[in-house]
Amino acid sequence: MLNIKINLKEVKQMNDNKGQNTTINWYPGHMAKAKRIMKEKMSVIDVVYEVIDARMPYSSKIQDIESIIGNKPKLLIMTKMDLCDKKETERWIRYYEQLGYQVMGVDLEHQQSTTGIVKKTEAMMQDKMDDMIARGMKSRRIRVLVVGIPNVGKSTLINRLVGKKVANVGNRPGVTKSLDWIRINQRLELLDSPGVLWPKFDDQTIALNLASLTAIKEEVLPIYDVVCYILNMLYTYYPQELESRYGITTIDEEDMVNTLDIIGKRRGCMIQGGEIDYDRVMNLILNDMKSGLIKGITFDRIEELV
Ligand code: GDP
Repeated sequence: MLNIKINLKEVKQMNDNKGQNTTINWYPGHMAKAKRIMKEKMSVIDVVYEVIDARMPYSSKIQDIESIIGNKPKLLIMTKMDLCDKKETERWIRYYEQLGYQVMGVDLEHQQSTTGIVKKTEAMMQDKMDDMIARGMKSRRIRVLVVGIPNVGKSTLINRLVGKKVANVGNRPGVTKSLDWIRINQRLELLDSPGVLWPKFDDQTIALNLASLTAIKEEVLPIYDVVCYILNMLYTYYPQELESRYGITTIDEEDMVNTLDIIGKRRGCMIQGGEIDYDRVMNLILNDMKSGLIKGITFDRIEELV
C-alpha cells in the first residue's frame, strides 16, 4: 500500500516539476467534419440555441461558434441552474447580456415547462417572420438548431421542448445527416438532433473545469490533478461543501495526499490492512461532482477569466 502513496507523491512531484501546467492538446479528429456538416445546415436554420452549463458559463462555451453559425440569431441557454452558484452565474448572465446576447437560465431537472424559451424565440424572430410575409412569402415555422459541447443538456432540452423523448439523454450523437424537423408548436420546429461540438482548449483552467464538471472525459487529464483542483476550488470558494460532504475545514495544499488520507478514512475508502484506497477516494470525489451531489457551485470565476 505504501507504494500507492509513493506513486501518488511521484505524480504530484512530476506535475509540480512541469510548472503546474499539464500540457493539453486535445481535440477529437472528427471535429472538422462535424463543423463542416453543421455549417452546411445553417442555411435552413433561423435560430441557434447555444447550450452551456451554468456552473461553467465560460469553459463550456464554444469560443469560435460564430465561425460555424455566422451571424444567425442565437439564444444562449444556461442549463443546470439548480446546481450552480446563483450569485456567480448571475454575474455571467449580465456579462453575456452586456455583450449583446439573449440569455436564459434553466433548470431542466425540475422544470418541465419551456414556455419562456419558446416565447423568447418567437419575440426574437417576430420581425423576420413579419418581413417574410410582407414580401409575399409563405408563412412557415421558425427553425431551431440546438448546439453545444457534450453533457451540457442538449438532449434533455430537446426532449423538454418537444414534450416527449426524441433525443437520447447522455448519448453522443453527431449531427444527423438527414434533416428531420420536429414540431414544437404552431410557430416553431426543431432539427431533431443537436449539433455536438467539442471545446477546443489550450487553457489549463478551462480543461480542469471541463474535467471536473463532466464535459470531457477525465482521462484527458490525470485524475489526481482534477481531484486536487476540485478540492482547491471547494476550499477557496465553497468551504461549507467541503465540510458538509467530507467533514474537513481545511486542505493540505502542500501535499494533497494528506487530505485524500483524511477524506478516505472518513468515507471508508480503505483496502485490507486499513490503508487508504486512493483510486476510490479520487473517484468518489469526482463522482460527487459529476452526479450533481455537490450543488451551489460555479467554477468559472468572472474576475479571473475576463
Ligand atoms: P447532452 O450531451 O448535451 O445532450 O446532455 P444530456 O441532455 O445528455 O444531459 C447530460 C446530463 O445532465 C444528464 O444526466 C441530464 O439529466 C443532466 N442535466 C441536463 N440538464 C440539467 C439541469 O438543468 N439540471 C440538472 N441537475 N441536470 C441536468
